[in-house]
Amino acid sequence: MIFKSKQPDIDLPRDITTWRWLFDSPASPIGRYADSEIRGFTNVGTGERISYIDVKKYTTYLSTALARQYGFQKGETVALFAPNTIWYPVAMLGVNRIAGIVSGASPAYNVEEMTYALKTAGAKFLMTVPGSMDVAAAAAEAAGIKKEHVFLLEGELEGFTTMKQLLELGRSFGEEGQVPAYTLAKGETNFDLCGFLSFSSGTTGLPKAVMIAHQNVIAQCLQIQQITPSTHRKVLAVLPSFHITGLVHALHLPILLNAEVYMLPSFTMKSMLDTIVKYQIGELLLVPPILIRMVRDPIVNEYDLRHVTRFSSGAAPLSPEILKLLQEKYPWTGFKQGYGMTESCSCITAHPPERYAYDYAHTVGAICASTEVKIIDEDGAELGIDQPGELLARGPQIVMGYLNNPAATQATFDQDGWLHTGDQVVIDAEGIVTVTDRIKEMIKVKGIGVAPAELEDLLLGHPLVEDVAVLGIPDDYSGEKPKAFVVRQASARVSEQELGELLLKYVREKKVRHKWLKEVEFLDVVPKSASGKILRRLLRDRQKSGDGR
Ligand code: ATP
Ligand code: MG
Repeated sequence: MIFKSKQPDIDLPRDITTWRWLFDSPASPIGRYADSEIRGFTNVGTGERISYIDVKKYTTYLSTALARQYGFQKGETVALFAPNTIWYPVAMLGVNRIAGIVSGASPAYNVEEMTYALKTAGAKFLMTVPGSMDVAAAAAEAAGIKKEHVFLLEGELEGFTTMKQLLELGRSFGEEGQVPAYTLAKGETNFDLCGFLSFSSGTTGLPKAVMIAHQNVIAQCLQIQQITPSTHRKVLAVLPSFHITGLVHALHLPILLNAEVYMLPSFTMKSMLDTIVKYQIGELLLVPPILIRMVRDPIVNEYDLRHVTRFSSGAAPLSPEILKLLQEKYPWTGFKQGYGMTESCSCITAHPPERYAYDYAHTVGAICASTEVKIIDEDGAELGIDQPGELLARGPQIVMGYLNNPAATQATFDQDGWLHTGDQVVIDAEGIVTVTDRIKEMIKVKGIGVAPAELEDLLLGHPLVEDVAVLGIPDDYSGEKPKAFVVRQASARVSEQELGELLLKYVREKKVRHKWLKEVEFLDVVPKSASGKILRRLLRDRQKSGDGR
């Protein structure tokens, strides 16, 4: 059975790039609003601001400088290696303006990881910030990028060209001398034009370079615009710009919506809360690790957050325990989330406004506009409502594939256009989707699937457990059995040995036999990605190498 979105279809333009669409088409805020009402990107640390009118101007100068001075060609890749800065979208849109490709990389990468990212993306240019230059310069050299192709997005450093210099150079060519924005060739659509190489989070293996077309970003912006209240005019940008969620929801969508983006140069709870209160931001786009701090960190009690209308989450699962605490602490708020992956250019499902209630918070909402979903079992047979299986999705936000990896592309994007998400979900009679776990991470106990998330939710509810990850480990009799890696509450007054026994018993009392734990091991922290996903591959390595056993 194919489940279709209940939303009206989006009206998707197929003959335009993101740049032209956002700055030179009827969709642009420029022309739709008076110049004085045009919003922009604000650096909340320094107060520096770039309005969307200036973004249009600067991206024109930047692309002119790249093309005229550096011979930049269509299809060449620029890597962006930086924390959030208001110059990030200028670089991104400037490169896209002349049909270049932008590849974001986590600013936490070390030289080895960054070299891998540059080589995988085939980057010819690199833009970074002074604080990341050590890693950037070493990785650029290892990946064969010329030193004069390494630029600074902001700040200054001896021997490196800065964004300001590039803009000045572009401007010096005069109005007549500006390079025109790329126009699609005859017969070329915006699905043929790759604009971004985004890396997946690397939860299940090495991060994959996902090729995202201009069309994917335009489609996703229109899909989300359709379910965004017109009152949403302020965007809190704490999520990283290099990840798909930040790329769409904090860098592109706000331009379409003419919403102001408040960027935090570096994240602390204090700087985030100060920003939320100072600018009276109503919708808070966060990820689970920050939401957990919104209920547990005592610093929040120093702020009056009664203007907050709703929390928005995505990118990783959020436990029912945290949702309950969130609702208790902020009973005046609503809640929404989006579900998707880098390969779907962000959302496949999301909550529409009529579902912004905690009753639906454990779900990931409804299928986005112009999107179809199928749920299949292990043999590929289609399932119906309330039957858990793998989610497959088809729609204009589904991306082009993986760069230079035809085998992975074929395995994930099938011939009929379906993206195989690898996530296990159920869909109810109302069309509301709930994510139960990742297929790959399901534990097979005597052939029966056990979702690690179910046991993690249970154990997180135990008063002596601070954090937990559950993994399937080999078992001679059952094939696999669940094992819990537990971080103890600092206040726990029992020994590890005693707590281990207590937790084994706790699960035996609450769950059927095949879900019982084989063992418990204690950790100082559970390894997680920035968005809060448990990096089970690291636990698996630890288990295999026999550490701590
Ligand atoms: P990799 O593919 O490199 O192993 P990854 O899948 O974690 O890493 P992303 O593309 O960043 O990389 O994340 C997509 C995945 O995140 C989805 O497949 C899903 O498992 C999970 N996810 C995203 N949104 C949600 C959500 N709202 N609730 C639960 N899980 C989510
Ligand atoms: Mg993935």
